[in-house]
Amino acid sequence: MSATETQVIIVGGGVAGSSLACALAHKGIHSILFERSKNSRDLNRGDGLQPRSLEIMETWGVLKAFIEAGAIPSYGNEVHHPVFGKLLEVDLGIVNTQYPYMLNLPHPQIEELLAAHAQNSGYCQILYGDVKQVLFENNQAIGVRSVVNGEEIVIKAPVVAGADGSKSFLRKYAEIETTFEPYDHDMIVLHTKRPHWFTGRFRTKVFLHQEGPVVLLPLPGNKIRVVCLIKGKTGGKWMALSKSELQRQLIRRLPNLADVELEQHGEHIYRIQKMHAKQYANKGIVLLGDAAHVTHPAAGQGMNMALQDAEILAKQLQRAFSAECSLDNAYATYESIRRPLNQNVINRAHYMAWLIWSPSILGFVDRTFRMATLRFLFPFKYQQLTQSLAWGISGIQQP
Ligand SMILES: Cc1cc2nc3c(=O)[nH]c(=O)nc-3n(C[C@H](O)[C@H](O)[C@H](O)COP(=O)(O)OP(=O)(O)OC[C@H]3O[C@@H](n4cnc5c(N)ncnc54)[C@H](O)[C@@H]3O)c2cc1C
Repeated sequence: MSATETQVIIVGGGVAGSSLACALAHKGIHSILFERSKNSRDLNRGDGLQPRSLEIMETWGVLKAFIEAGAIPSYGNEVHHPVFGKLLEVDLGIVNTQYPYMLNLPHPQIEELLAAHAQNSGYCQILYGDVKQVLFENNQAIGVRSVVNGEEIVIKAPVVAGADGSKSFLRKYAEIETTFEPYDHDMIVLHTKRPHWFTGRFRTKVFLHQEGPVVLLPLPGNKIRVVCLIKGKTGGKWMALSKSELQRQLIRRLPNLADVELEQHGEHIYRIQKMHAKQYANKGIVLLGDAAHVTHPAAGQGMNMALQDAEILAKQLQRAFSAECSLDNAYATYESIRRPLNQNVINRAHYMAWLIWSPSILGFVDRTFRMATLRFLFPFKYQQLTQSLAWGISGIQQP
């Protein structure tokens, strides 16, 4: 068995873990990152990088690689109604930033590019192995035990970061309380070629329907992701449908999709829930990303929260490593900055979900009435709402 020391141990090589490795490398801090799955995961997850994330990625020096990989800009969101047409348009152009758009790239590529950048920096070593145990001394985490290439290894570090996703194993070691609140609806995620009418300045398009909205997100390679909200616990039924029946169900909700053919791989059911851990750090373990918070995907920001957590955590760790403050102080400052921002995203996503998911006719009429009244009778309030949503989606704080 070998034992090695580093400054920061990162458990989990998703967006949270790889981002933390990039942020630390940029600040000259060494890390060892453990990821249990060696092969890139074919995950239908977050693929829209917010303006604020792009600003941070530019400082890490990784943004260029995303543009070279073919990431495509998307300039905001639109909500369409079957009778009233466009009821809401959120344009990121109003946000004061060098990047007034989202960059969309499939999630596995985002993870790969971040991990490659961290590794190439010379500050981060990636080990493909499952972390099996956290080691403690005086009730503080001092390292982890893992098996890498059949060999048991121990790594020690003053900082152990849990970036190991919503089911976080490190959160349990840290004895941090969480409550998961499931929604009454889930998501089915599908893919298809971009329809001929999905052109121009791309935005995410939400098409309302009384049985649940259909959301279309532009992806590189002339593709779109099709996301449908469905009643909770009906995912099994949807996944059992034949391709033609699935397409028929989709066209019932959005007739415009009649001339596109669904791809037959990558379908995925996502159980939607929200959670915000009671603390971000305890017993020498600090959490980030989905390990610390899970949000409804309606605001499309879980991955961006993970990336932005990483930047703030790395900044605070830099202060601690240069003896400006203690590690406990660094963790407390990290949490005091990130918790209110993350809670805002969770609340905004909850509001967006309420607006677009109304499974009864009465609910649908109620939401339609509210949105149409705002759109057509109160233009000033409508403008205020769309501007505040644009700032929210950008991740940049409104001045
Ligand atoms: C359908 C869907 C759509 C979404 N849409 C968006 C969107 O549009 N925009 C957005 O910003 N976000 C979106 N999200 C959310 C976003 O994908 C997540 O919030 C984000 O990816 C979380 O990243 P993470 O690194 O914290 O966790 P994860 O991606 O879960 O990564 C955790 C990693 O830790 C590893 N791991 C776990 N335990 C161990 C262990 N013991 N040892 C070693 N490795 C371990 C796992 O293998 C995994 O790679 C969406 C999510 C879903 C499911």
